Amino acid sequence: MAKLKRLVLHCTATPEGRAVSSDDIRAWHTNPVSKGGRGWRQVGYTDMIHLDGTVERLVENNENDIVDPWEITNGAAGYNSTSRHVVYVGGMDKQNKKAMDTRTPEQLEAMEAYVKDFHQRFPDIRIVGHNELAAKACPSFDVQKWLKSIGINQ
Ligand SMILES: [Zn+2]
Repeated sequence: MAKLKRLVLHCTATPEGRAVSSDDIRAWHTNPVSKGGRGWRQVGYTDMIHLDGTVERLVENNENDIVDPWEITNGAAGYNSTSRHVVYVGGMDKQNKKAMDTRTPEQLEAMEAYVKDFHQRFPDIRIVGHNELAAKACPSFDVQKWLKSIGINQ
């Protein structure tokens, strides 16, 4: 058990407008490598924001600031025991060639509500993009800039 230190925002790195189900994500992450998965014990994210703005819980979470072993998800190697991960569906252009902020108006609204609720409950816990922890494009937008634009100063 460890103190929660950050909320990490991710994208599924899938083409703009293409729906992804929680079963898809679970298969990508937890299927054995021999079957094309990553072979992880647990899916990478606590919550998933669908194209229509629906927030789906993937892994149980008791909503406090301690990360219990059963709450750990595998979104960012080296940081998982002290992180919570949330993902939006999208993050690539239609041709699946280039990282792009593809958040729909509904996803933007849902993500804003999500981070504002989180920030209100845990004002001292940093909200970051995956690309601030690793050399990746994920989540395909500048999280710090976006947070400022919605009035979150951390
Ligand atoms: Zn990521």
